[in-house]
Amino acid sequence: MDFDLFVIGGGSAGVRCARIAAGHGARVGIAEQRFWGGTCVNIGCVPKKFMVYAAEYGMNADDAKTFGWDIAKGGHHWQTLLAAKDKEILRLNAIYLRLLQQAGAQIFESRATLTGPHTIEIEGKTVTAEKVVIATGGHPTRPEIPGAELGIVSDDAFFLPTRPNKIAIIGGGYIAVEFAGIFAGLGTETHLIYRQPLPLRGFDQDIRLALAEELANNGVILHPDTTPQSITESGEAKQLALSDLSVLETDLVFFATGRAPNVMGLGLDAAGVKTGHGGQILVDEALATSVPNIYAIGDVTDRLNLTPVATAEGHAVADTLFGGKPRRVSLENVPTAVFSIPPIGTVGLTETEAAKRGPAKIFVTKFTPMRHNISARPRKTLMKLVVDAETDVVLGAHMIGEDAAEIVQGLAIAITAGAKKADFDRTIGIHPSAAEEFVTLRTQTRVAGQVAAAE
Ligand SMILES: Cc1cc2nc3c(=O)[nH]c(=O)nc-3n(C[C@H](O)[C@H](O)[C@H](O)COP(=O)(O)OP(=O)(O)OC[C@H]3O[C@@H](n4cnc5c(N)ncnc54)[C@H](O)[C@@H]3O)c2cc1C
Repeated sequence: MDFDLFVIGGGSAGVRCARIAAGHGARVGIAEQRFWGGTCVNIGCVPKKFMVYAAEYGMNADDAKTFGWDIAKGGHHWQTLLAAKDKEILRLNAIYLRLLQQAGAQIFESRATLTGPHTIEIEGKTVTAEKVVIATGGHPTRPEIPGAELGIVSDDAFFLPTRPNKIAIIGGGYIAVEFAGIFAGLGTETHLIYRQPLPLRGFDQDIRLALAEELANNGVILHPDTTPQSITESGEAKQLALSDLSVLETDLVFFATGRAPNVMGLGLDAAGVKTGHGGQILVDEALATSVPNIYAIGDVTDRLNLTPVATAEGHAVADTLFGGKPRRVSLENVPTAVFSIPPIGTVGLTETEAAKRGPAKIFVTKFTPMRHNISARPRKTLMKLVVDAETDVVLGAHMIGEDAAEIVQGLAIAITAGAKKADFDRTIGIHPSAAEEFVTLRTQTRVAGQVAAAE
């Protein structure tokens, strides 16, 4: 065999897997067809967060005036932001490549396809590998409506030549609400169109309600219970027909309506790898596919599509196969953030999930963050703990408010360790901070499930 391991895909999952396996002494080949670092680095988490920062800076400039700064906020230069983002991403691409080279992996900057369980076609040649890891990620999809090709998807949003004056974002998931915050914050008239009564299906209901308020406070025009019907074009303008029979005229329609695994033309049939209805590669707990020597990791398995999950899976497979340290990745209590403005941080069970399991106590606080008592910006922070009524174990922590991602990452350690509400209560707070509210939540708000509205 040419390789002990061949990894297809150089995103978060594939790079980690290849690098760690090579570090364990395996002879590793890795193929990437487009850009090192994959979705997260190039068209996902990283550029998205730069854009969120850009939108927040504009708001901070407004707020700074109330703290005495003589700031005259001019317009926003879209091209400056994109150039800064591109420069940083080039730096990150180079780091990813260097890490692989330093680890001793053989690099292929091309598309790879499977021709059998142990054979991969790349650059017109066939190479052989003992083990194969598929880490090809996913791509955004469009709904099947007339004129869908006139809309953009998240991949395009990072390269727009100019910022639109008006945008219609379709979708209620995290990518939709994040881009709503970005465009509204940069000065675009932003419409958010979603099928459910509230955005972020599956998140805690209190967080969803609070998010809808914050989006509206930031000037996002909300269209709940609404779906797109068709798009037409006249000149530069797009006409978006909606299920409420209205027609929204806009510069840009942005579909954030879902993603699908990258499996087309990959040769899965030739190798015998089984997929599910959505095209996702089916894996067992060890991330093995239906073919014993082939593994799949990250978004291509379409389970929990998050970068830290993808890297953890890549690492675990490398350790298991080549490091003599067999281990599994638990998808329980995976913390996650939504970089809306303000952001959301969440870990563990929602109130509805907890109520289904058994009796649970709910602690909620909602307050104006300290700085906004001066800035007068209409922004609230909401924090919530879900506690098992019988064992006192904290089952979930949810927050929407400034620094939520940073705060909830710390809480995730406590929850993973099985902390009880009594442990939160005996922890001394940091003052003055928002985070201290999580350790001073003394009064129970209600019993889980007492509030109507299902998630
Ligand atoms: C807009 C957006 C924002 C996001 N924000 C966050 C966030 O804030 N936090 C978070 O945790 N996650 C976020 N995600 C999700 C995160 O980006 C993914 O979970 C993560 O990138 C998955 O990594 P992966 O390695 O599985 O796939 P990818 O990163 O997609 O990598 C797959 C790679 O395989 C390559 N490839 C595909 N087919 C082949 C082939 N046949 N041969 C060679 N190469 C191939 C592709 O070019 C790609 O580079 C976001 C995603 C998007 C789209």
